[in-house]
Amino acid sequence: MLDLTYDAPKPKTIAGATGDWELVIGLEVHAQVATKAKLFSGASTQFGAEPNSNVAFVDAGMPGMLPVINEGCIEQAVRTGLGLKAEINLWSAFDRKNYFYPDLPQGYQISQLYHPIVGEGEVLVELGNGTARRVRIERIHLEQDAGKSIHDMDPNMSFVDLNRTGVALMEIVSRPDIRGPEEAAAYVGKLRQIMRYLGTCDGNMQNGNLRADVNVSVCRPGDYEKFMETGDFGVLGTRCEIKNMNSMRFIQAAIDYEARRQIALIEDGKEVVQETRLYDADKNETRSMRSKEEAHDYRYFPDPDLLPLEIEQAWVDDIAASLPELPDDKKARFINDMGLSDYDASVLTADVANADFFEKVAEGRDGKLSANWVINELFGRLKKDDKDITDSPVSPEQLGKIIGLIQSDAISGKIAKDLFEIVYTEGGDPEAIVEERGMKQVTDTGAIEAAVDEVIANNPDQVEKAKANPKLAGWFVGQVMKATGGKANPKAVNELVMKKLAQ
Ligand code: ADP
Ligand code: MG
Repeated sequence: MLDLTYDAPKPKTIAGATGDWELVIGLEVHAQVATKAKLFSGASTQFGAEPNSNVAFVDAGMPGMLPVINEGCIEQAVRTGLGLKAEINLWSAFDRKNYFYPDLPQGYQISQLYHPIVGEGEVLVELGNGTARRVRIERIHLEQDAGKSIHDMDPNMSFVDLNRTGVALMEIVSRPDIRGPEEAAAYVGKLRQIMRYLGTCDGNMQNGNLRADVNVSVCRPGDYEKFMETGDFGVLGTRCEIKNMNSMRFIQAAIDYEARRQIALIEDGKEVVQETRLYDADKNETRSMRSKEEAHDYRYFPDPDLLPLEIEQAWVDDIAASLPELPDDKKARFINDMGLSDYDASVLTADVANADFFEKVAEGRDGKLSANWVINELFGRLKKDDKDITDSPVSPEQLGKIIGLIQSDAISGKIAKDLFEIVYTEGGDPEAIVEERGMKQVTDTGAIEAAVDEVIANNPDQVEKAKANPKLAGWFVGQVMKATGGKANPKAVNELVMKKLAQ
C-alpha cells in the first residue's frame, strides 16, 4: 500500500501587542465504548431509557457488590488502540479515583491511572491543501462514566439518573501536538471516524458519546520546536483545561477565546493560572471552575476489588487480524488503485457507510465515473431530500447497473440522469427500465445517418454557413440529438456530421 505524503500545516498564530503567539493544544477525549453492557456490570448501556432503569446493584454502589469486568469492553479498547497504531499493554490495572458526588454512588470512579491498557500511538489528521498533522497519542485508559444530575426540572429539587453510571469510557489522551482550533476539531473528527470504522464508539457528540477536555496554552514562535527537541514542558506556556466539550464548533470557539484571554493576561504583565475552566456557549467565553490549588486530592490507589488485567498476545493478534480496513488505508487505495482524486477519496471515506456503498457501486466498473455518480448525483439528490446514505432509495446494485449502462454505451450520460431519477423515485431494475421505455442509445449508424441526412437536407442555409465556419457543426449535432430524443450516441453523431459537411 502506497503511503500518502503530506506537509505539516502552519500553527495558528495570533498577533499580540508584543509580537506573535502560537497555540499549543492537547486533548483528553472521552469516548463511550460501544458495548451492550457496562464496564463492571451486566446493566444495559441503552441511551434514552427510562431514568434509573439500567442500574445494577454494583452501579448503585450497594454494599458488598463486586465489579466483574466485561470482556467486550476490553476488546473494544484493544481494537481502538490497534486502530490508533498504539502499543497494547498486556498488563494493566484499575485504580480508584475518590470523590463524592450524588451521581457517583460508589464514592469513587474506577479508572486506570498508573497502568493504562493502551500506550503510545498516533493519528494522522488531514487539514486540506496537502497538509496533515501527526498527533501523538500518549495513552488510552478505561474508566467508568458517572451518572447524570438533573437540576433544572424543579428549582427546589435535584434528581439523579444512574443509567450512565458505570458505562465504559475510553479516555484517549493526546500529546500537546495540536496547533490550532481547526486542527483540534479535525483531530476529534478523525478519532470519531476511526472509531466508527472500528465499531468501538458511536461518536454521537449530541448524546455525549464523545466529549473532550481541551488543554490550551500559548507560546512564542520557536518554543514548541524547543519542546519537541527536549521534551521539556517548561518551555511551553501554562495551560488551562476546558472541561467537557461536546461540539466541534464550541471546541474551536473555546480554544480561540481561551488563547486570546491568555495572551491578554500575559501582555498585561499578569500570569496564566493553571486551572480548569468551563465554556459558556451563550456568552462565548470560558470561566474559571477551579484552580490547581483547589484541585481535588483524589487519593488514587489500586482497586482492591479487581485483579490486574492480564491479556494474551495471541488474543491481541486475533483482534488485530479482524480489524477492518481503516480510513487512511482505504483512502490511499481509492486514490492509488481506483484513480480517485484526493478530494473524492476523502468524501467517500469520511463515513464507512459511504465507503461501503461506493465500493459496491464501483465493483468491476470505472472508479472515477462511479465516484462522480455517487458524490454528485446520489449525494446531491439525497441532500435535497434530507436523506442519509443508509436510507437511500437507490441501492448500490441499482446505481452500479446505471453506471454499467453508461460504460457499455447503452445509454448516454444525459439519459442516465433521467434513468437515475426514475429509479430514485419509482424504483425498478435500471436495465429493464431502459428496455421497456426505449431509452437505449442509438449506436446503429444507419439510423443516425438517416437523421443526419434529414437535418442536412432540411437546412441548406445552415449547411453553407457551416462549411465556411466549422464551429457551426455543433448546431447539427444538437438538431440530430433532438430529433432522436437524446438517444443517439453523441460521438457517432459528431463524426457523421463532420463527414457529411466535408462532402
Ligand atoms: P494531568 O495529569 O494534569 O491531566 P497530563 O500531563 O495528563 O496532565 O496532560 C493532560 C493533557 O494536557 C494532555 O492531553 C497533554 O497533551 C496536555 N498538555 C500538557 N501540557 C500542555 C501545554 N503546555 N499546553 C497545552 N496542552 C498541554
Ligand atoms: Mg489527565
